[in-house]
Amino acid sequence: MSDMMKKKLFSGLDYSGRRIENCGRFEVVLPKVFGFCGGVIHALKLLEETIIANPEKKLFLLGEIIHNTNVNEYFQSNGVNIIPHNAMEKVFSVASADDIIVIPAFGIRADLEARIRNRFKTVIDTTCKDVKRVWEFVREESNKGATILIHGHPYHPEVEATISRASSSSMVVVISNLKEAGLLADFFRGRKSLLEIPKEIHVINGEKFNGDRIAMANQTTMLFNETVDIEAALRKTFEHLGGTFVACQTICKATYNRQTSAIQLLEKEHPDIVFVVGGYGSSNTNNLYFLANKAYPTFYIKDSSSIKEDTLEHYLPSKNTTIFTPLPDIFSSVKKIAILAGASCPVGIVNSLVERLKSI
Ligand code: SF4
Repeated sequence: MSDMMKKKLFSGLDYSGRRIENCGRFEVVLPKVFGFCGGVIHALKLLEETIIANPEKKLFLLGEIIHNTNVNEYFQSNGVNIIPHNAMEKVFSVASADDIIVIPAFGIRADLEARIRNRFKTVIDTTCKDVKRVWEFVREESNKGATILIHGHPYHPEVEATISRASSSSMVVVISNLKEAGLLADFFRGRKSLLEIPKEIHVINGEKFNGDRIAMANQTTMLFNETVDIEAALRKTFEHLGGTFVACQTICKATYNRQTSAIQLLEKEHPDIVFVVGGYGSSNTNNLYFLANKAYPTFYIKDSSSIKEDTLEHYLPSKNTTIFTPLPDIFSSVKKIAILAGASCPVGIVNSLVERLKSI
């Protein structure tokens, strides 16, 4: 990794597991594990090495390399053209066959990948190996004719890529929480028809339902505890009906470790407030927010610049919007602050947040 990238994205102390006693008027605590995972570091290194090795070439990235605005802006400032995720077809009109095409860490749809490989000479694939593990499971099970069930967010790039790995002869269902799992169980029991299944449950090829075999996988960055509950509930329902239920626990180790570390920190330290820092579109960061927000006043911020002179700009995932709260309303009686950061957050962003807190 170049010095340039280290300086920009990895700069400063690594505060993992640290307690910062003199952070201005606050005590700041951090989990043992947070920030970039191996899969993210692999993707960023590959992209940066490609930029350095090909100074004369145009480079097109299919969507964001990871869900962190600062990281994507860093690569854009180094000449990378980002094709928005919802307009990836555009690459066929703006890039020429000699340009370099980069697949992001979440992967892309199988049909699109095949067309890209067919059209462009150089394709750099940064897809995380843990994401490919989910694809393997889905591909194998759908070839056996199983109904594929995915615990994830249907429009997340990783899930779209995973859905596309199922064969067209399999029904695929995507549920994002325990409530939706309950509604799906009603369908299994025959209490609801497909037409009655609410829109939030994403169903593809509903007419291909196989009531003999269900195969469940997860988006890699979901809440671990929730996925365990969903799997147990649906397995019980389905096996009671005489079907076979197979599950591949595909939440990645990095996500599990960051969630477990966050839980341990909160249970041990009982902070007055929690800052979750990172990209708003990041699934694993959203889940750290949900986890902390159950028990503590939690503020989801992009980076230290979210703390303005008089207000805090913070994101509300349930409303998909940011709001501004006056700083005195947040900090007036606060002594201890916990900071959580997901797998897509550079340590440099955590460091600058710590520095900003010192100045309050
Ligand atoms: S969070 Fe997990 S799946 Fe995503 S890049 Fe990191 S290791 Fe891979």
